[in-house]
Amino acid sequence: MSEEQHLNFIEEIVEGDLAAGKYGSIVTRFPPEPNGYLHIGHAKSICLNFGLAQKYGGKTNLRFDDTNPVTEETEYVESIKNDVQWLGFNWAEELYASNYFDQIHGFAVRLIEMDLAYVDDSSSEEIATQKGTPTQPGTPNVYRSRTVTENLQLFEDMRLGKYADGEKVLRAKIDLASNNMHMRDPIIYRIKHAHHHRTGNKWCIYPMYDFAHGQSDAIENITHSVCTLEFIPHRELYNWFIEKLSIFPSKQYEFARLNMTYTVMSKRKLLQLVQENHVTGWDDPRMSTISGMRRRGYPAAAIREFCDRIGIAKRDNLIDISLLEFCVREDLNKTAVRRMVVFDPLKVIITNYTGEGEILHSENNPEDQNGGTREVPFSKEIFVERDDFMEEPSKKYFRLAPGQMVRLKSAYIIKCDDFVKDANGNVTELHCSYIPESKSGSDTSGIHVKGTLHWVSTAHAIPAEVRLYDRLFNVEDVAGAEGDFKDYINTDSLTVVPHAYAEPALLHDSIGVGFQFLRKGYFCADKDSTPTKLVFNRTVGLKDTWAKEVKKGA
Ligand code: ATP
Ligand code: MG
Repeated sequence: MSEEQHLNFIEEIVEGDLAAGKYGSIVTRFPPEPNGYLHIGHAKSICLNFGLAQKYGGKTNLRFDDTNPVTEETEYVESIKNDVQWLGFNWAEELYASNYFDQIHGFAVRLIEMDLAYVDDSSSEEIATQKGTPTQPGTPNVYRSRTVTENLQLFEDMRLGKYADGEKVLRAKIDLASNNMHMRDPIIYRIKHAHHHRTGNKWCIYPMYDFAHGQSDAIENITHSVCTLEFIPHRELYNWFIEKLSIFPSKQYEFARLNMTYTVMSKRKLLQLVQENHVTGWDDPRMSTISGMRRRGYPAAAIREFCDRIGIAKRDNLIDISLLEFCVREDLNKTAVRRMVVFDPLKVIITNYTGEGEILHSENNPEDQNGGTREVPFSKEIFVERDDFMEEPSKKYFRLAPGQMVRLKSAYIIKCDDFVKDANGNVTELHCSYIPESKSGSDTSGIHVKGTLHWVSTAHAIPAEVRLYDRLFNVEDVAGAEGDFKDYINTDSLTVVPHAYAEPALLHDSIGVGFQFLRKGYFCADKDSTPTKLVFNRTVGLKDTWAKEVKKGA
């Protein structure tokens, strides 16, 4: 980034801690629950956690927070690892909260031994009622005064599978009158007879998130445990467990989660979009997932730049999706190779052209001096865009019209002499003549034209399908909108151009390359693309509305 670098509030804390000699070096972690694919909000957290360790010479663990056996799957684990690496980060260790089930179980036993936890037979409804309300303290039940011996036996029986799901829970014994509802004897273990993706059927009791997260942090000697704002009320509990168990004093810090306009970011909602076929999968290019953005052609560097620009906030806000698009466009303008693709072809016959097999050269990227050129075959018959011709042109129409001249990109100037119509009055063919001395690079014609068109030689054209994407939702603040988020799905978010024609250079380019199709926008080959049928995704349009706004504001 070119702007001046000032520290975000978490960096200030880290620098303070390092200056005070609190830690030799820092350890952070990125802790996804493997219950879905990562989205752009996770990218924010990844860039923050890995970025801190990079900046201050520490390390970052990838820790799967897999304490809920029911929703977690190995497919998600693999996709998460893939996405983190693709974003450009390497973890120090790949770890799983489930690795610590033995230790966490031991922590629970220790709390019981200190008379700081008890087995409760109440139903979840009873527990909720007994907890009281924010203005009314909770009331202890008979189970709260069970003896240590009795609790140890019951907890062991829970572990041995003697009870059904929900029959008993283990609760921390803290303070039923606390102002913080999370401190009113929170549940720390529950019974769940379920298969776990890593521990199989070894356990039928599982720790609650609050009893696993901080402890996992402590086990890994995490110095700065960064999470999102909704965990602020959990911090007191996080610290209480660490203190009572006398384990490594990890500290929790909270920042605002990323929310973005015209999109949803909760995994639960994204899963719904997939399951109900509103999209083609987690990696649908319209999704806010990392895999969707990758498939759409967003460069990892652009996503990192976006995360950098939005900064680390302490309050929830809604980021304009066009800032992300701006970052994507900026990156691609520098890196994307220029190609020509005609979306809606109109045939042009160059009547006075007698050449055969002429190969022209066109630069790959005017922004990149070392980008080189590519070969572009020219011939007597070419395709141009249907809307690059008007029978009766308006005043400032500088493209093809009877008697008007244009330049064909990297080729010649042509003049429209005539056109052919079918029985329905549709123009089917243009007849043009070319100016032989006007060849790009060696133009001696002295003719100046205002319009430059992209084109493709018909004999060399490769059929292509082009997929144009629009926003998946038609309101800015989808999460904040009334009613069901699915009511706001934009039903026109995908437009397929079925019969486009691509220049032959595109046949040899592979997936993962960014293209600028002249006058059309930025594109990438989709994974559905084959040598006989190319398929492209529009990554982002050429127009740059955000940049104008930024300049205005500056
Ligand atoms: P979701 O609500 O989408 O399921 P989550 O918070 O439950 O998200 P986790 O897998 O638990 O997802 O999150 C892993 C890490 O990513 C956590 O530290 C979480 O705080 C962070 N994270 C999740 N969503 C966002 C977001 N929108 N912005 C910033 N960080 C996020
Ligand atoms: Mg979660």
